[in-house]
Amino acid sequence: MTTDFTATRAAFALPEGVIYLDGNSLGPLPKAAAARIADCVTGEWGEMLITAWNRAGWMEMPRRLGDRIGRLIGAAPGTVVLGDTLSIKVYQALASALELRPDRRVILSDTGNFPSDIYMADGLVRTLGQGYELRTVAPEAVEDAISLDLAVLMLTEVDYRSGRRHDMARLIAKAHDAGALVVWDLAHSAGALPVDVAGADADFAIGCTYKYLNSGPGGPAFIYVAPRLAAEVRPALSGWLGHEAPFAFDTDYRPGAGIERMRVGTPPILQMAALEAAMDIWDRVEMADVRARSIELTEAFITGVEAACPGLALASPRDPERRGSQVSFRHPEGYAIMQALIARGVIGDFRAPDILRFGFTPLYTTLADVEGAVAVLAEVIGGALWDREAFRRRAPVT
Ligand SMILES: *Cc1c(COP(=O)(O)O)cnc(C)c1O
Repeated sequence: MTTDFTATRAAFALPEGVIYLDGNSLGPLPKAAAARIADCVTGEWGEMLITAWNRAGWMEMPRRLGDRIGRLIGAAPGTVVLGDTLSIKVYQALASALELRPDRRVILSDTGNFPSDIYMADGLVRTLGQGYELRTVAPEAVEDAISLDLAVLMLTEVDYRSGRRHDMARLIAKAHDAGALVVWDLAHSAGALPVDVAGADADFAIGCTYKYLNSGPGGPAFIYVAPRLAAEVRPALSGWLGHEAPFAFDTDYRPGAGIERMRVGTPPILQMAALEAAMDIWDRVEMADVRARSIELTEAFITGVEAACPGLALASPRDPERRGSQVSFRHPEGYAIMQALIARGVIGDFRAPDILRFGFTPLYTTLADVEGAVAVLAEVIGGALWDREAFRRRAPVT
């Protein structure tokens, strides 16, 4: 193992007395981020004003950071760019993929996909009209549902609720055999497990940076386009920063070179400053080490919880190869149980209708954290400490 996880843990600001098992939803603050953002605000924005777009390299940030994320997902330099939020990237990738298969009308996804991905596809289908159709099947039925009328297979590799993982390379091969393109959402994969978008021959991949990658709330998303397609893709969201020459201010849209064309508008510089601080940590990390440690942590958690809390049913695949870096359990009072855990400093989250979800993030989570979390969970369940009105009151964000 070449990754120094003691050093990576020391690089995060983790509040005293908290065991944080929700870095799969919002990663914690890299200690260096506050100073980096302050420098960007006062040193760059404050001192350089508009000249910072050139002098501080702001305009190239979406590409520079894209290359650094690319290393984590098996994408070559110059094939990933940052910008917008993931929902927008879903729309953009899907619209471009559909346009590359003009004689086909069907999008296939699965019922375990994150609702926003489904909503965006549905909205796109409505806008396009012309007989476009979104089909969703159970995750286990996807492979058999790949048919010769399929234009685009749109999937999230790791299920946000259960952590179940699709076999990416296999489904890509099957979809390509049928003449379809594939869009992969890596929201729960990037920074969670090794991904090889180029090796698996993915067409499009998208993901967010505020989960495992730790860019902070509202951090921009990323998009990958296979180099063999990048020059053919016609961006549906044809914003000026995806234009070949934005500062020519032509009234005709001409797509920029390669991945540049997937940029839309002005990038979020302050948010990318935070991501830069996070990537300084990721640059010293090997994904194979993250995966080995993640499996160790999730296995220990499952063993511990099953021994201490027989009332909880495992909702994630038992085989670590079949799941991502999160573990979920079901309980009818899942919401109240999670609130009781949070009140005792163990932070996970709840996903309707009955899922207690725990993310394992080796950069700052240790086996001692796992043992601590199991002990608190056992207390909460064993003593029915969750059984209070206050813990049942739903907050807007669960
Ligand atoms: C978190 C997540 C999103 C969120 O999209 P935003 O536009 O960034 O809010 C979308 N899709 C998946 C699969 C996710 O896990």
